[in-house]
Amino acid sequence: RQPIIAIDGPAGAGKSTVARRVAAELSLVYLDTGAMYRAVTWLVLQQNIAIDDECAIAELANQCKIELTPSNDLQSPVRVWVNDIDVTQAIRTIEVTSQVSAIAAQSAVRQALVKQQQSWGKKGGLVAEGRDIGTHVFPDAEVKIFLTASVSERARRRQQDFKKQGQPEVSLEQLERDITERDWKDSTRTVSPLQKAADAIEVPTDGLSVAEIAAQIINSYQQ
Ligand code: C5P
Repeated sequence: RQPIIAIDGPAGAGKSTVARRVAAELSLVYLDTGAMYRAVTWLVLQQNIAIDDECAIAELANQCKIELTPSNDLQSPVRVWVNDIDVTQAIRTIEVTSQVSAIAAQSAVRQALVKQQQSWGKKGGLVAEGRDIGTHVFPDAEVKIFLTASVSERARRRQQDFKKQGQPEVSLEQLERDITERDWKDSTRTVSPLQKAADAIEVPTDGLSVAEIAAQIINSYQQ
């Protein structure tokens, strides 16, 4: 089997940019699992399903078709389709971001999406990024990385992402509050919470460039 590189960490730690770069450099496929939870959340909101209607949401998560296409341009996010609708931009709004942790905490949703992720990873050859990749989705991954960064650095990165994506500007204070709240929800949920795998390498990223972080990860993989 080809290798799997698992990259986990809190919101805004630089996982997406770094994972995409590592995937490109090693000719592996990039898998953004957060985009999948966001896609389900977008569907829930679009269909006006109550966030606590776990039955209806479970059905939706099991029946929806999610497609991810990494873009050739390293600067832009993966293209995401749900039930043939292009939701690439729509899944990055504040509204989706503020609800996604509540949906991702539902065990039926996780079961459905993890099953899909594991089937994509059967033959390996992936750089998968998320919250539970090293602990739960691919516990046998060849390399496990846990990226961290200070809250202020993460808020700053999120603000830059928003700018690049042409989203309305959000203050750093607001972003810090949102990130802290989302991390708290993601790490205190009962099903596969955000957690560093025992055998993961922790990489603190404050002050490091994407190229430097990617180089560290590639280095761990090649050792
Ligand atoms: O990484 P991103 O910010 O796009 O993830 C959005 C949300 O999806 C996270 O805050 C978390 O609630 C959920 N998620 C998850 N498990 C993953 C990836 C993301 O629960 N593997």
